[in-house]
Amino acid sequence: MTSYLKTMPNSEGFFGEYGGAQLPPPLVPHFKEIREAYEKISKSSDFIRDLRYIRKHFQGRPTPVSHLKNLSDLAGGAQIYAKREDLNHTGAHKLNHCMGEGLLAKFMGKKKLMAETGAGQHGVALATAAAYFGMECEIHMGEIDIAKEAPNVTRMKLLGATVVPVGFGGRSLKEAVDSCFESYMSQADDALFAIGSVVGPHPFPMIVRDFQHVVGIEAREQFLEMTGELPDIVAACVGGGSNAMGIFSGFIDDEGVALYGIEPMGTSSKLGEHAATITFGEDGDIHGFRTIVLKDANGDPAPVHTVASGLDYPGIGPEHAHLYRTGKANYTSANDKEALDAFFALSRHEGIIPALESAHALAFAMREAPKNPGKSILINLSGRGDKDIDYVTETFGFGEDS
Ligand SMILES: *Cc1c(COP(=O)(O)O)cnc(C)c1O
Repeated sequence: MTSYLKTMPNSEGFFGEYGGAQLPPPLVPHFKEIREAYEKISKSSDFIRDLRYIRKHFQGRPTPVSHLKNLSDLAGGAQIYAKREDLNHTGAHKLNHCMGEGLLAKFMGKKKLMAETGAGQHGVALATAAAYFGMECEIHMGEIDIAKEAPNVTRMKLLGATVVPVGFGGRSLKEAVDSCFESYMSQADDALFAIGSVVGPHPFPMIVRDFQHVVGIEAREQFLEMTGELPDIVAACVGGGSNAMGIFSGFIDDEGVALYGIEPMGTSSKLGEHAATITFGEDGDIHGFRTIVLKDANGDPAPVHTVASGLDYPGIGPEHAHLYRTGKANYTSANDKEALDAFFALSRHEGIIPALESAHALAFAMREAPKNPGKSILINLSGRGDKDIDYVTETFGFGEDS
């Protein structure tokens, strides 16, 4: 662990002014149990040994860093590199924290993993972890999302998970969170609520970051070995912010490395047409923690849109809010069009079909490259795009130079 990570969060789960845990009273003892168990178990040699084994022999870690030479030539200027989380088992970085949370649950003697899911990516990763550890899995998902994301529902069921359809309110992610919390309250002795990003009440922003830290540790070592130096810029897309915290945490004590989080600007800067929380948001509370929130005229979490469903959250992990306010990291955005262009370019010129989420980080790199000749940009390619190909080609065809 590097020095910054040792100081954040504090014992109450605050990263500066952000974070904490605002919980309904019945959940307070359960979150205390998780916090205490994590502090003890995550430092034990048995846990560390098992997690290392799983990463190597099940997930296929370390994932490589690839030099995107063709794309760098095309963009002109900086050299662009990608940390290949698309090659992690199940095709995205999410399995890093799901396997960690599953192993934690096993050491705590729990029998079940539970979570909500929006597009289904977190649900699939958690169902994978549950199958590996021989645990039950209960995933809450809005009826609208179930209809939209049929392949992920099929995957979860094949992996043995119970998918609970949520039919009230907007029948989407927010209601799925409420439904899952409700169900968790009645079975918290036997189950672990495994949150899917660096969000939620303490200790989850810390736990999920720590399990994603492996991405940054590997990337720093691999980049040094490949080039003899550190990258000038490290960038990642930001939904809740777990893949970004993973790669940022490897470089956070390196003064010369500029960190960039890329938010989705959707179709326009009008409220409801993007999910650029830091760019347009203000301080507030959401889902049990203090952070920066995108609010509507009434001060409630605003509706959001982006072509990448994994990024559509009107809040952001509290650590990102802190890194932004303290200037330790920079935040900017890429819109749907830029992300789609990057999606087609990486497919066509490098033979890698990226997730639309990850394409936002790549769009930033291609935009910045011409302004930074002689420099290097490392992005976290958080996932592969298999899940997006039908939607993209049916809606946008095969890209301009096809
Ligand atoms: C879920 C997801 C994201 C967004 O989540 P973060 O917590 O912000 O990392 C990004 N990329 C992919 C591929 C995802 O599945």
